[in-house]
Amino acid sequence: MTTPGGAPQATHYIGVEISRPTLRAALVTDGGEVAERREAALDRESIVEQVAQVVAQLRDSSPRVAALGVGLPGLVNPETDRVVVSADLPSVVRGYFHAELERATGLRVELENDANAAAYGEYISGAGRGSRNMFYVTIGRGIGGALILGGRLWYGASGFAGEFGHITIDPEGIECSCGNVGCLETVASAPNIVRRAHERLYRDNTSSLSMLAVNKDFTAADIAREARNGDDFAALMMERTGRYIGTAVAAVINLLNIERVVLGGGVMEAGELILSPVIREAERRSFHPSFEATQIAAAALGNDAVPTGAAMLARDATTAHAS
Ligand SMILES: [Zn+2]
Repeated sequence: MTTPGGAPQATHYIGVEISRPTLRAALVTDGGEVAERREAALDRESIVEQVAQVVAQLRDSSPRVAALGVGLPGLVNPETDRVVVSADLPSVVRGYFHAELERATGLRVELENDANAAAYGEYISGAGRGSRNMFYVTIGRGIGGALILGGRLWYGASGFAGEFGHITIDPEGIECSCGNVGCLETVASAPNIVRRAHERLYRDNTSSLSMLAVNKDFTAADIAREARNGDDFAALMMERTGRYIGTAVAAVINLLNIERVVLGGGVMEAGELILSPVIREAERRSFHPSFEATQIAAAALGNDAVPTGAAMLARDATTAHAS
C-alpha cells in the first residue's frame, strides 16, 4: 500500500493493557514508538467488545495494523493461548478469549502476562534499551518481575519465572498471600509500606512530628510525597523500603550477573528517594565485580510500558510466523 505521495505506509501494531481499572491502548510503530493512545474505564462485562472498539478507532489512524498484543494480569499458556491463572479478571478471559479477540478484531492476537509485556516494552524502547539481558521489577499493590535473557522473555519451566515479590527477605516475617512468610512483597508493596508506617507511628513517639501522624488514612503515594517535602519519618520509610528491595536485587545480580535492572510501578514514583537506597543496598550486598557490570535504573515508559511491550511481542510473533 502506498500513500498518495508514493511512499510506502508504515506498519503499526496495537498494544492493549487490561490490567487495571483503566483500559489503555496504543498504536505502536515497528520500532516501538507510541504513535497514538486511547484509554477508557475497563468494562469488565464486555472486554472483547471494548477491545474491538478501541482497535477499530486506532485503525482509523493507520491503515496498516499487522497484529494486536494484549497484556493482562494472568498467566498465558503459550501452547494453547489460554489464560490459565488470572486473579483479577472476569471468567470470560479464561474461556476462548484469544479466539474471540481474533474474531472480533480480524487481527492476529498475542496474549501476554502484563509484567512480561511491561518488561519487553522497557527493553525495546525504555530503560532497558541497548541491553541484552534485563531484569524488570514492578512495585505497586503487589511486586512482580520479568526476565529478558539474550533478548527474549524467559518464562521458566512452567511460566512463573521472575516471581521477585516472593523472594524471602525476612525468615521471621509475616505471612504472605503465597503461603510463605517474610516475602519481599510483605514489606515493600504499597499496602505493606503503609502497614509498616502505621506500626512504626504507633511505636515510636518521635514520629508523631511526622505529617503522616496527622492524616491517618495515608497511602504509599502520600508517604513518598511527604518524604519529598522533607518529612524525616516518611523519608526513613522510603529509605528502609529501598533497602529491602536492594537486598533482593543483590540476590538477582549474584545469580545472573545481569546487565540491567529496571524498576517500575507506582512505588518507584518516589524517584531518587527510593532508587538511591535500592542501588546502595544492592551494591553493599552483591558480589562486587558483578555489581560493577549492572546498571540499575527507573523504568522510563510509565503507562505506555504494557501497551508498547504487548504490541512488540505481537510484532515479533507475526514476523516469526511470516519467515
Ligand atoms: Zn510470597
